[in-house]
Amino acid sequence: MIAELICVGTELLMGQVTNTNAKYIAEQLAPTGIDMYHQIVVGDNPQRLTEAVKTAFSRADIVIFSGGLGPTDDDLTKETVAETLGLKLELYPEEWDRITAYFAKTGRTAAPNNQKQAMFPRPSIILPNPNGTAPGCIMEQNGKAAILLPGPPRELIPMFRDHALPYLLQKSGHKLYSRELRIFGKGESDVTYLLDDLIKAQTNPTIAPYAKTGEVTLRITAQCQTEAEGEALVLPMIRTIRERLGDLIYSDCGEPLPVVCHKALLARGETLAGAESCTGGLLSSAFVDLSGSSAYFIEGAVTYANDAKMRRLGVSKETLDTVGPVSEECAREMAEGLRKRAGTTYALATTGIAGPDGGTPDTPVGTVYVSYASEAETIVKRLQLNGDRTKIRQIAVLHILDLLRRKVCTY
Ligand code: ATP
Repeated sequence: MIAELICVGTELLMGQVTNTNAKYIAEQLAPTGIDMYHQIVVGDNPQRLTEAVKTAFSRADIVIFSGGLGPTDDDLTKETVAETLGLKLELYPEEWDRITAYFAKTGRTAAPNNQKQAMFPRPSIILPNPNGTAPGCIMEQNGKAAILLPGPPRELIPMFRDHALPYLLQKSGHKLYSRELRIFGKGESDVTYLLDDLIKAQTNPTIAPYAKTGEVTLRITAQCQTEAEGEALVLPMIRTIRERLGDLIYSDCGEPLPVVCHKALLARGETLAGAESCTGGLLSSAFVDLSGSSAYFIEGAVTYANDAKMRRLGVSKETLDTVGPVSEECAREMAEGLRKRAGTTYALATTGIAGPDGGTPDTPVGTVYVSYASEAETIVKRLQLNGDRTKIRQIAVLHILDLLRRKVCTY
């Protein structure tokens, strides 16, 4: 089965928007056994879009479209595709109700031109869009299919994953089984370098790396007939990757670092407190975000000023006067002081310079000390992080969580 992708949008041709939808869809198609030999990018122009649709259908069974489903006059993907396939658009009242309800939920009223977003050929398969107004759709004609998806990635990705992909798999007669490895401690280029031969030789399963803030994810996907067959293909690959990456892998089922720590602390019946300076509550929030964390997360102290570090954590004046608040000693005293005061099994602490101001030659912007204290030991790590203030604070939290998970997780 052959699929082709048409990404619609003048902004893509002008270089104003990076075509991440093409990358995403191509990566998702790779393990399905559906071939893609061509991709087209075309502007919001009906003649050129018509040509593209004809060309794509002359060589593919399924054509996937991204973009141009909005309410304005230059959003013409659906109209052009339907016309090229000889299909007429009709109003689907239930879809119009859904669109007006979506607007009402966000305190707005649907404009009359939004009605075109509720028009589809009959019959067609409507693809719900919980993240926007424009539903997607699948039009079928003469054994061929057009899958129309909205342009914004936050709308396209869930729609593709939840609706288009199952449709494509049903058409191709394949099943997919996938597992997500989560990695902390090396960047995407280092990880792909270490796995270069595996990535180059990949057939079934496939290995797709993704970079996230401070982390790397590897999705291992097998094409299979049953879940057991999929597992039998994926697990040996996970073992091989694990032999290379070792404990850089903190989850093989896609769980983020806070969740991994959360589950471990619940299972162990242990408790935790967090003393934060530069992360200003992000560390506490990582746990408070998770339902049930009150069973182990006892307290968080945002101690930004020196006085607060002394008063609430017992950091010594001498430490602050001599080596200062962004120091190994201060991080150590913060974690040890809070652990004693809160009476918890563990305490974590962060102190650093998130910038853009405040750096010195010895402690430049991005210097962060993270500390872990238990009864048995205190560990302090000095980090040198890159990025803006937000990124430095987020990555500092990942480092401290990684320190904790290495102590409390067996994986
Ligand atoms: P809307 O209802 O928001 O107008 P739409 O389906 O009409 O959605 P477009 O108007 O084509 O989509 O694009 C809306 C936005 O989605 C673009 O401005 C861009 O930010 C993003 N976008 C569109 N196509 C792509 C793409 N191929 N890759 C990444 N982002 C895209």
